[in-house]
Amino acid sequence: MFPEFTLRYARLPEHFYIRFDPVPVPAPRLVAFNRPLAESLGFDLDAFDEARAAEWFSGNAVPKGAEPVAQAYAGHQFGHFNPRLGDGRAVLLGEVAGRDGHLRDIQLKGAGMTPFSRGADGRAPLGPVLREYLVSEAMHRLGVPTTRALAAVTTGERVFRHVPEPGAVLTRVASSHLRVGTFQYFAARGDHEAVRTLADLAIERHFSHLREPQRQEGLAEGERYLALLEAVSARQAALVAKWMGLGFIHGVMNTDNCAISGETIDYGPCAFMEAYSPTMVFSSIDEQGRYAYRNQPWLAQWNLARLAETLLPLIDAEHERAVEKATAAVKHYESLYEAEWLAVFRAKLGLATEEAGDRELSEALLAALETGRADFTLAFRHLADAVEEDAPTLLERFEHDGALREWLPRWRERLAREGVGIDTIVARMNAVNPLYIPRNHQVERAIAAASEQDDFAPFETLAEVLAEPFTEQPGREAYAEPAPATEKVFRTFCGT
Ligand code: AMP
Ligand code: MG
Repeated sequence: MFPEFTLRYARLPEHFYIRFDPVPVPAPRLVAFNRPLAESLGFDLDAFDEARAAEWFSGNAVPKGAEPVAQAYAGHQFGHFNPRLGDGRAVLLGEVAGRDGHLRDIQLKGAGMTPFSRGADGRAPLGPVLREYLVSEAMHRLGVPTTRALAAVTTGERVFRHVPEPGAVLTRVASSHLRVGTFQYFAARGDHEAVRTLADLAIERHFSHLREPQRQEGLAEGERYLALLEAVSARQAALVAKWMGLGFIHGVMNTDNCAISGETIDYGPCAFMEAYSPTMVFSSIDEQGRYAYRNQPWLAQWNLARLAETLLPLIDAEHERAVEKATAAVKHYESLYEAEWLAVFRAKLGLATEEAGDRELSEALLAALETGRADFTLAFRHLADAVEEDAPTLLERFEHDGALREWLPRWRERLAREGVGIDTIVARMNAVNPLYIPRNHQVERAIAAASEQDDFAPFETLAEVLAEPFTEQPGREAYAEPAPATEKVFRTFCGT
């Protein structure tokens, strides 16, 4: 059933990882399987056998050709550097080439204690596994680069967090698990050859346009690594702008959770905002509000600066010059991000042309959302109802609609200059402003039913709803609504 493995990471020198077989679990049961993703990865589903799949996705059996490894990495966690984190509860089985020909990592998360576990149990509770499954798949459908979820298995074991919970393993698919922290691991040890190996691997897997042929066209080696830094910056700028356009708060933007590929990775205490508030923080461990919504673009830049530091010796043999070039690249992120942000918000407002006042127009709407305490997602979704006249479906989303009422005529004037019909504007807007997002209370309900009652029906229904985020689904109106007062979520937990 498994496609053939192409081992890439496990063929790097030995100090990049520790060979490590997943630790067997007593009673693996497949509770979620992502068929469309499996198909796109080249799995043979005619031969699909649920019991066998449970063995593989729990780590009880290692598929043919896989060579499980725990990857080494470091990371700045909330600004503090830890030189040795690594996969403390995950193993990379290997890479497979999808139908599109691109390699993807297949990783089991929750696969047991590894030499990187640092005293923790190496396991994952079912709640966080289902959360990552739901949210990462929703992000994919929302058009955000992200790791994906292929399968979830319960283990038949209990794991102990605040209370005993069912243990589970998530099978995660990623363009790669190269992180800023992977580069930091080697740079911190002064192993610049290893950093070069990683940089070359990153170019091979994610930025093939920077490969050798261009070097022959005059791209000197140092320029290639500088170009890598710029390419990673561009991906981060695009990624964070997408998060901002959805009200998504990652929650732990540590350098070990910042993927070189530009995919969203590690869905711990993440959440989507309901009432718009730029200072919003969910993560219970983020006491300083470091990873608040409005800080995310600048934290991504901070992470890029950490990446830049690791690349300095590759960028230029002369340190001062390397610093100058890398600093310029990291600085350039700001304009890349600003442009991406504007593109995202223009689209949300139904604009395809560009005018000088568009940023101010977008910001004025956000200010109206904030003073009006409007639900971010539904306010944007129902804006399309108000292209011609103030619509109750929009106004009712605002506790105070004064600022909005002043803003709407300005927006309509701007729309008139688009020179297209209302239907076109509405269709454009509905294609980028989702109706359904993974609202925390819904995710929590799905998790509670699965963890406490072994009832996966709410999880399955929610996954189905989130698979079509832009399409109205009759009978599922409740899934679009913000949490009732009794279920509002203000704090999320890593729960790892
Ligand atoms: P995360 O918070 O998932 O990004 O993980 C940060 C670091 O802690 C990584 O090195 C993880 O492998 C490690 N870690 C998190 N949870 C566990 C666990 N239950 N057992 C072992 N290591 C863990
Ligand atoms: Mg992590």
